[in-house]
Amino acid sequence: MRTSRTHQPLTYDVRLPDEAQADALRLLDASREVVNTALTLLWPHLDDFQADRVGPAWKQVGKYMGSPQYHGDRQWRCESEVVGRILRAQAERKQAFELVTPILTDGFIRPQTEQRPAGKKRAAIKEALSTLQRNLEEEETSFVALQNVVEQCCNFFFAHDRFPSTYEELQPLPLLKIGLLTYAGDDGREKGQAYRLALDLDGGVARFRFRYPDEAGVWHWRKGDTIIPLPDAVRERLKEGELMAPTLREEHRADGERFAVLDFIVEVEKADLPAWESVERVLGVDWGVHTLLTATVVDEHHKQVGRPIFLNTGGFDGRQARTRRQIDELKKKAAKFERGRDTLPPDHSKRLWFNQKLALFRREIDRCWRKYEQRNRAMAHLASNVLVLLARVHGCSLLSMESLKTLKSTGRGKGVRGRWRNYRNNSTIRGEIWRLLRYKCHLIGLRFHTEQPRGTSHTCPRCGHPAKTYREPSDRQEAVKWGRWMYCDDCHYHGDRDYCASVNIARLGVAYLIQMKQTGKARSCSISDPRVKPVSYTGAGAVLLLPPTGNHPARTIRGKICYYPGWLGSAFLQSSQKKSVFLRLCG
Ligand SMILES: [Zn+2]
Repeated sequence: MRTSRTHQPLTYDVRLPDEAQADALRLLDASREVVNTALTLLWPHLDDFQADRVGPAWKQVGKYMGSPQYHGDRQWRCESEVVGRILRAQAERKQAFELVTPILTDGFIRPQTEQRPAGKKRAAIKEALSTLQRNLEEEETSFVALQNVVEQCCNFFFAHDRFPSTYEELQPLPLLKIGLLTYAGDDGREKGQAYRLALDLDGGVARFRFRYPDEAGVWHWRKGDTIIPLPDAVRERLKEGELMAPTLREEHRADGERFAVLDFIVEVEKADLPAWESVERVLGVDWGVHTLLTATVVDEHHKQVGRPIFLNTGGFDGRQARTRRQIDELKKKAAKFERGRDTLPPDHSKRLWFNQKLALFRREIDRCWRKYEQRNRAMAHLASNVLVLLARVHGCSLLSMESLKTLKSTGRGKGVRGRWRNYRNNSTIRGEIWRLLRYKCHLIGLRFHTEQPRGTSHTCPRCGHPAKTYREPSDRQEAVKWGRWMYCDDCHYHGDRDYCASVNIARLGVAYLIQMKQTGKARSCSISDPRVKPVSYTGAGAVLLLPPTGNHPARTIRGKICYYPGWLGSAFLQSSQKKSVFLRLCG
């Protein structure tokens, strides 16, 4: 595989046709057994996987052991590739564990109180990790990896009332729970000895043939090719990208159904990032208090370009909250039935009836979760596509994004319960949008930079002075921290707080851009820094770029904000881009 600087692997899972399912699942079961045996044998030698990491993973495993159950050289090569990758990843985590062990402290733990269970003090963790990372020789271990291990250590603390003393104590042997078989890359696709995969792009299908154990445990090649229809996205990617060795994998549903999927991995070239000299405009994006997202464009001469865009998801939030309530209800019912069943003696005949009911509830809960997550994903895709699209139509090459706020910082004030419910979901979506955006920016060559949100909602974007927020534009008796309207006492500018925050995020982005242009050094500013200049807005070029869509295109005007409903049905908007760009945006 080439370096990740220039190329990016994209994975698409496709369910195998029914005729191949039984054989594929048997193959996965057999492989899993071998992989788990090998993991168990090699786990005491985890440290060896820390140092020696050159070459393919299967070769390294091959140095220590042969196959515990011999099903052919190539089959073992694929299985040991899985084993090697798992052990290398674990060895890396062990290294991170050894780095964080000296800084683990009770100060990371928030003790249990009557209202709240015990938790983690994330701010303390973050600070300690930043200090730790500054003292490291090189930035060889990423912040996220360290944070992840510290969180796992805290979870250990909750269960055992102390921190773990060794990595092996923290991390149980990572056996595969579901089948997974990575076809080793050097086993050629056309003439492979464990699998064969031929593409017929004109016909839109892949022909897949694999070795498998039959019911008696005897290994064969499958007689014929399994024809797998290729999803459009994969076909489109394959025109430019390169197909890598696939992975066969098992998926489980909560109702017990299991099936095999083949992960097609296409490696595509990343688009080049624009040179800093050529970047002129910045799209500032704020996570709103009242809207999901607000975005504004500012150019390098501190002029705002066009109107802000608000992405409001009120109806969507309501639907998600209803599904969450439904899940809570179902869980309550299931718990009641479970208690009913457990009062019966073990051989009572009514137990069967209880168990059937319980299975029904679990299926329903699972269905609700799937619906809920699907909706979240769809919304995250939509939101990130809209932002990327906005950046492109405005000629912005830098996307300045507010970092992910913690839940705690926005759950206060009036109507906490309702807001909390939305936030519970919004925080999930935000993470998803953030990841999607970063990934899409990489793909299409947009620069992406995260800014610290401190003070951005309480600073006037027109004169740069601190400003207060109020509940309503007309009522300025009492300043409210979470108020929706910002009013500047210095220049008397006032506007929606989320809008002002998005302009401020864009201002931070412009300050960052100008420093990159002048000094070539990446430095973020705080909002009160004199390098962050006020932004003016003359309304020039304020054309509405995205037309109102949906079944109810009527707009409503409240105060200074104009609402255009119907975003959920507006996926076709994306077609205003060239087809190649459009397809890339759809991921
Ligand atoms: Zn002002």
